[in-house]
Amino acid sequence: MIEDNLKNIKARINSAAKRSGRDVEDIKLLLATKTVEPERIITAIKAGGLLIGENKVQELKEKFQALQPFAPTTHFIGHLQTNKIKTVLQYCNLIETVDRLDLVQKLDKRLQFEGRSFPVFIQINTSYEESKFGLSPENTIPFFKELSKYDTLKVKGLMTIGLFNSDINKVRKCYRLLKKLQQEIIQLNLRNVEMAELSMGMSHDFETAIEEGATIVRIGTAIFGDRIYPDSYYWKEAKTNI
Ligand SMILES: *Cc1c(COP(=O)(O)O)cnc(C)c1O
Repeated sequence: MIEDNLKNIKARINSAAKRSGRDVEDIKLLLATKTVEPERIITAIKAGGLLIGENKVQELKEKFQALQPFAPTTHFIGHLQTNKIKTVLQYCNLIETVDRLDLVQKLDKRLQFEGRSFPVFIQINTSYEESKFGLSPENTIPFFKELSKYDTLKVKGLMTIGLFNSDINKVRKCYRLLKKLQQEIIQLNLRNVEMAELSMGMSHDFETAIEEGATIVRIGTAIFGDRIYPDSYYWKEAKTNI
């Protein structure tokens, strides 16, 4: 079933790319694997899903050993608390959710200590929903000018969670805004900043995201089925530990 779902999603990515005159090679599928146990993730990896994303540092760490032999590229796609920085840097290849200066400073401090740099995306709150994390679109340019001073962070692109709405035009607006910000940032020609990647689009709207320029679509439900926890658990400040 996971294999069939993956095949189906890849076919849909293909047609969305064709439809919008894009090269399918420029679009990566990220498996959103929160709550999915390693066994099922491995099934998906073997079926050709080589990029995965986790939302919780604890889960990332717990699954690491089981997944390591299959060497997936792992992105962190959840809200990152500063007290988890050391661990997240140990177990993932890229952080997609950098969204505030205190996080930048603390990442920089740790990376300086480790003597290395690290690739990141900046998360933008394109839907303006209070429930979602991310930098406000208005603050993006000043934030980038500041961010560019930190040589340990190599910025590779932008990430957003689109609006949840049955009106696809409202969703599309979020993705169009992310693309527009990408173009504005490119114009600034900042040090440590490349803007090749746009991580946007999920199970219910990835085709729209591809039409608007996504280079990474993050898909969970459409491959692994429904999750038991509501997404709000992952997207708001979690007060409890499950
Ligand atoms: C869960 C999650 C996804 C995937 O969502 P689906 O609707 O299950 O495809 C994508 N991005 C983030 C940040 C997520 O937390």
